[in-house]
Amino acid sequence: MRDMAVARRLLGLARPWRGWMGLAVLVACATVLASVALMGIAGWFIAAMGIAGVTTGMMNYFLPAVGIRFFAIVRTGGRYGERLLSHEATFRLLAGLRLWLFRRLIPLSPGQLQSRRGGDLAGSLQADVDTLQHAYLRLASPIAVALMCGVAIVLVVAALHPPTALALAVLLIVAGGIVPTWARRAAAAPGAEAVASRAALRVATVDLLQGLTDLRAAGAVERQLAAIDGLGERLVDSQCRASTAGVVAEAAVGLSAGLALWCAALLASASVAVGGLLPEVAPALVPALALAALAAFEAVAPLPAAMERWGEVRAAARRIFDLADRTPAIVAGPDLSPTPQDASVVFSSVRLRYAPGSPPALDGLDLAIPDGRHLAILGPSGAGKSSLGRLLVRFWDYEGEIRLGGHDLRRYRPEDLRRLVGIATQDAQLFNGSVRDNLLMAAPEADATALEKVLDVVQLAEFVRGLPDGLDTWIGEAGARRSAGQARRLVLARALLRDPRILILDEPTENLDAGTARLLIASLRAATEGRTVILITHDPRAAAQFTDQIVHMESGRIS
Ligand code: ADP
Repeated sequence: MRDMAVARRLLGLARPWRGWMGLAVLVACATVLASVALMGIAGWFIAAMGIAGVTTGMMNYFLPAVGIRFFAIVRTGGRYGERLLSHEATFRLLAGLRLWLFRRLIPLSPGQLQSRRGGDLAGSLQADVDTLQHAYLRLASPIAVALMCGVAIVLVVAALHPPTALALAVLLIVAGGIVPTWARRAAAAPGAEAVASRAALRVATVDLLQGLTDLRAAGAVERQLAAIDGLGERLVDSQCRASTAGVVAEAAVGLSAGLALWCAALLASASVAVGGLLPEVAPALVPALALAALAAFEAVAPLPAAMERWGEVRAAARRIFDLADRTPAIVAGPDLSPTPQDASVVFSSVRLRYAPGSPPALDGLDLAIPDGRHLAILGPSGAGKSSLGRLLVRFWDYEGEIRLGGHDLRRYRPEDLRRLVGIATQDAQLFNGSVRDNLLMAAPEADATALEKVLDVVQLAEFVRGLPDGLDTWIGEAGARRSAGQARRLVLARALLRDPRILILDEPTENLDAGTARLLIASLRAATEGRTVILITHDPRAAAQFTDQIVHMESGRIS
């Protein structure tokens, strides 16, 4: 996407907040113009007082004094108001953008988000959206202010003294157009590098925090820390290079402002000498024009630093647009969700590849599971068992046909499918919250009896009763304060609580001792009587205890 297209799209996204933005720009313009007027009048006033002192001694000093006071108040109040308004506008906008991006992500299947790692994805929602604040606060709004004020100041000066206006216009274009464009070019590459380094740093830090135990066990903490150090240095280096361009540009703007002052002073003095300026105010107009010309650069001063950020803003915007523009791979069919005739599932010649060139995870799978049947799928690791479950809840798309309740699976609306099919996956998460929160997120209306019942089924009732606050015990950061087997069973309880007609249980006995595994399978079997249940396991004993309908799976098909 080209620069203009990115800028246009960013402005388009801000449309709902244009009222706030417009108000902030108007107040900022009033502040700059007040500042220029203040300097101009002050210059004129001091010079005129001096001239009156050495000549007639007569002058009306009341009006200019009122003007000076008025513009000083407008400038101070305007600065405060502008900050308040522009920050209010930007924060509202950022909150809106975050929600917009989040809403775009929701319909994407886990498969589509797999290419962006957890830390990186969270980064787009947080840091990248934060970076966009520069687009509005430091770019769009200052550019609008510079254009409006620049034109207004040059026109007023032109009415008083055209040669000064011409010199001022040229120098304003240099400081507000040429210098920022150069700054943007010089900072573009380091800016993009900074965004990439920051994203990599975030991923590495999340990896370090989440995998600290494993890294420590493997003696790899130092290596990971060194990698983080390296990324940090790269980030600082690219930020330094981007800032150097900014400093040079700032100096160039300062130089232009100084030149404008001198040009105005010399050109106006020359005109006074040849009588080209209004005779009655002429000499005092020289410092007025010179100081106003100097103050005019307040309008363009923020531009180089702002443009220097453009590389960073563009990279962040591109990452966000890349996420937001993914069309959901899995969408419901054109008609309404069908009503399932029963709870049967039929796979016919189903094929699944996780990535275009990779070997198939499911390779022509044929399997029919009648309504109410308990079926166990046995097979070695990597056989494709979990993949089969993921297809039924439409985490990934597939080739071939799956019929659920007599209808094509693709015709069901995702929300109807979630009610119909429950899954307890191996990688399901427990969230920061109490045991109750973690269970209720699947079925918010479930009462205490229902919770007790499912905890009983998964053999956790006693464990939860023994916790300090029972169901209200916090299970900590990423659900850390419990064993892997307990976490797996809480996930199982969550799936049972929804009471779906079709249930997929992925390795429920993993990490359990033989005795608990036996008890769990027996109670699961009793609790799911009449439902269609697919038990995925590599444990032949668990499979045999659960049902006598066992199929074997290998290399992506039933063997
Ligand atoms: P099982 O449950 O029998 O152990 P899986 O269904 O998990 O087998 O995996 C089948 C194959 O698909 C394996 O080769 C595995 O590496 C691959 N696979 C599983 N999940 C993914 C994924 N999210 N992305 C890419 N490949 C995957």
